[in-house]
Amino acid sequence: DDRPGAPAEAHVPADLPDRVRHHIGGEDVDSTDGGTFDVLDPVSNRTYLRAARGTAADVDRAVAAARRAFEEGPWPRMLPRERSRVLHRVADVVESRDARLAELESFDSGLPITQALGQARRAAENFRFFADLVVAQADDAFKVPGRQLNYVNRKPIGVAGLITPWNTPFMLESWKLGPALATGNTVVLKPAEFTPLSASLWAGIFAEAGLPTGVFNLVHGIGEEAGDALVRHPDVPLISFTGESRTGQLIFANAAPHLKGLSMELGGKSPAVVFADADLEAAVDATIFGVFSLNGERCTAGSRILVERSVYDEFVERYAAQARRVVVGPPHDPATEVGALVHPDHVDKVMSYVEIGKTEGRLVAGGGRPDGFPTGNYVAPTVFADVPPDARIFQEEIFGPVVAITPFDTEAEALALANGVRYGLAAYVWTNDLRRAHTFAHGVDAGMVWLNSNNVRDLRTPFGGVKASGLGHEGGYRSIDFYTHQQAVHVTL
Ligand code: NAD
Repeated sequence: DDRPGAPAEAHVPADLPDRVRHHIGGEDVDSTDGGTFDVLDPVSNRTYLRAARGTAADVDRAVAAARRAFEEGPWPRMLPRERSRVLHRVADVVESRDARLAELESFDSGLPITQALGQARRAAENFRFFADLVVAQADDAFKVPGRQLNYVNRKPIGVAGLITPWNTPFMLESWKLGPALATGNTVVLKPAEFTPLSASLWAGIFAEAGLPTGVFNLVHGIGEEAGDALVRHPDVPLISFTGESRTGQLIFANAAPHLKGLSMELGGKSPAVVFADADLEAAVDATIFGVFSLNGERCTAGSRILVERSVYDEFVERYAAQARRVVVGPPHDPATEVGALVHPDHVDKVMSYVEIGKTEGRLVAGGGRPDGFPTGNYVAPTVFADVPPDARIFQEEIFGPVVAITPFDTEAEALALANGVRYGLAAYVWTNDLRRAHTFAHGVDAGMVWLNSNNVRDLRTPFGGVKASGLGHEGGYRSIDFYTHQQAVHVTL
């Protein structure tokens, strides 16, 4: 199509593939039954790609290849330093291609290009971090002098099944691939079906870095088909899953007959709590970024803002004004702050919450399609004030650029509001009272708390949620723990 400048036109990257295939045992292959599914770009919503649609038979082939590489290949037996060298080369290759990766990711997912670039760099950093960590890894040893020596013999587990969502696809894949591979496992990755493009680059990156054949396998496909087959496969002892809480519950049940190791990073409805003594300007800036970056499609989004009554009106006014200044635009434009949501089905979901919100709260910014964008998956940054805690937009994860603001009078009320949802992923607290900041952090149901701080995370810290937001922790050595057996060896002296 050659109508330049129309908002409906996606910026199309050069050399865009029109099909992507599975990667099994070192080869790019189609599904055994030849099936494919359509992938749309979120600006034009036209099909630009057909991806192989994995079946149980394809998953079986991929698991067999991964199992062979685990049992016969060098990877699990290589020294940590040798594996680390390969993973550092992976990081080098990812870094050297960050602009291309960001361009493809932004095109496929609708993420703003500047943010997609940050995610590509974070992916490289994940590999570097776990490459270093696995070399530095020390394991426990205990001795009873003259009697006994006990030590931990850490071993890779086998074929790890990795199932990932569409919101920051490549980065979240790296978050699982890095530690799974560093510890000597082999893998089968099932990326999200909305965004398979960047995942199709991994095979080339790993080959260039010298990863042995069969260690990395990828099956594209639908969650209920390829994802489900991976979860139920008897030769996959580990499943690391990031996605919706509802899907996590299903996977938990379906993995139960095999007693698999499970790591679950699930949904969120995280509170940002603003006390009257906070630096309001910093709080407004950070809470705007906290819910509108990554198009609001962010698990740790601060999507409920709780504000102390004495500054409530001022906060709402400043917040709404700033939300209206957030730049919505085409994903590839470096000035864009909110791009296009991933898929029309997701836009329908987000828009349905916008309509629900109009009956539950007071709309102070956005509320639908932004002006000037008649087509494409655009949603204006939307702010509801005076949202009661029983509102659906207070309780349910929307996963888009929509935020609910609610007033509170006391610290105890703020804590009750913060904890009054089924989720517990992140929490953000804004106050200049040191005691209150820490007390609140200790009381809040959240796996991660940021005090007077943006969502910035050191890779050594635990990552994970409580309640419906997840099960288990990854991050730093906790990821190493998840992907390894710790065998206790006892010697009588
Ligand atoms: P989703 O649960 O719909 O899908 C995630 C992945 O699971 C996809 O690859 C999908 O194909 C697969 N899947 C779906 N059904 C399956 C099944 N029955 N068996 C096996 N696999 C199946 O989630 P999504 O819509 O892709 O992602 C958005 C969700 O992810 C949000 O809830 C968000 O909060 C969450 N998320 C959490 C984190 C975190 O770290 N806690 C990070 C990013 C996203």
